Amino acid sequence: MPERPPVAFEPFSEDHQAFRRTVREFCEKELRPHALEWDLAGEFPAALFRRFGELGLLGIRHDPAWGGSGLDYWYVVAYAEELVRSRNAGVGTAMLVQGEMATPIIGDIGTDEQKREFLAPALRGEKIAALAISEPDAGSDVAAIRTTARRDGDDLVLNGSKMWISNGTRADFLTLAVRTGEAGYGGISLVTFPTGVKGFSVSRKLEKVGNLASDTAVLYFDDCRIPRRWLLGEENQGFYHIMTGFQGERLVAAVTAVAASALLLEDAMRYGQERKAFGRPVASFQVWRHRLAELGSRVEAARWLTYRAADLFNRKEVSVKEVSMAKLVACDLAQDVAYDCMQLHGGMGYVVESDVARAWRDVRALTIAGGTSEIMKEIISKSAGL
Ligand SMILES: Cc1cc2nc3c(=O)[nH]c(=O)nc-3n(C[C@H](O)[C@H](O)[C@H](O)COP(=O)(O)OP(=O)(O)OC[C@H]3O[C@@H](n4cnc5c(N)ncnc54)[C@H](O)[C@@H]3O)c2cc1C
Repeated sequence: MPERPPVAFEPFSEDHQAFRRTVREFCEKELRPHALEWDLAGEFPAALFRRFGELGLLGIRHDPAWGGSGLDYWYVVAYAEELVRSRNAGVGTAMLVQGEMATPIIGDIGTDEQKREFLAPALRGEKIAALAISEPDAGSDVAAIRTTARRDGDDLVLNGSKMWISNGTRADFLTLAVRTGEAGYGGISLVTFPTGVKGFSVSRKLEKVGNLASDTAVLYFDDCRIPRRWLLGEENQGFYHIMTGFQGERLVAAVTAVAASALLLEDAMRYGQERKAFGRPVASFQVWRHRLAELGSRVEAARWLTYRAADLFNRKEVSVKEVSMAKLVACDLAQDVAYDCMQLHGGMGYVVESDVARAWRDVRALTIAGGTSEIMKEIISKSAGL
């Protein structure tokens, strides 16, 4: 066999890999042992936010001036990939919302005062952050949100409701989308909203199919008064900022989907070699060898599509099409992988305490949250001029 040529594109340096090993060890030692317990309890200890903060995991790509590490996006990729080894998607969701979804926009367009008040304590894990965009009547159609922020002197007065908000029951502040102007996308603004404000309440915690340790809330705003200086970025430019922020959210979802799929396959191969039927390991039946070979190939294809999007994102190039493709392909694929891996586990796969059962429930959210697969197809077809 001739020697293989070196891989031309290797995103992870030795430093990235050393960081990856640290995150893996943390996830396997401190989080994994509690995966089932936290899932059954429907929450994890809030102290974990501070632990993640201490380890620098909430501010990987954030500005060191506010407590971040100022590292490149490949560190975030390594982090999100290893986070699935906690085997509790609820913890992963909460921490990724904190560091990668609710706060990057504050770092990008917030004032120094907003960074001091909201961003810095969030990166330390002292304040819990949530991203509140979706509403009972507006999920995919962000331009249809109805929560209003009316100007009153130097204040904004907020009324309305938000739904499916991750970290919502215990958030100290929200990165919140509100209507400040005309109907449609041109009348939306973002604000930083401290949840201690009078008139704010958590209507209820939603009981979900999976991601059980992550709290998902319905929020209510009744004449909530905040200073106008908590506007995030320019008034009525919120839609644009939300769409920009979605890229990071969707990319990290794709990375998570690929990593979760790879871990499901790793587990399934191990189980399939140990578990015997008709005197032989079930993984030795050709149907399973071929199924695993096919899924493994598709996961590898999704991984490199996702890395392509991550590379563009890391270089701050326009990556909307590639990020949407990666989210679509990786999150849809995770459904097939989870279904087949559960099937390979037979009856054990249907037992709640098994890792594969939890993963099967957890990955289901991936094609819905952060933009559905159908919306990804809308974006991709529009970018192709259709
Ligand atoms: C676990 C979880 C966590 C979440 N966390 C957050 C959070 O932290 N913050 C937040 O703001 N939101 C959050 N969400 C909300 C999530 O972003 C929305 O659920 C999602 O965007 C879909 O919106 P929807 O539920 O209103 O579905 P709808 O928009 O009502 O869509 C219903 C169906 O119609 C399809 N559809 C809609 N429009 C089109 C179209 N143009 N073409 C074809 N099909 C279409 C959709 O794909 C979907 O299949 C979370 C959701 C989940 C499940």
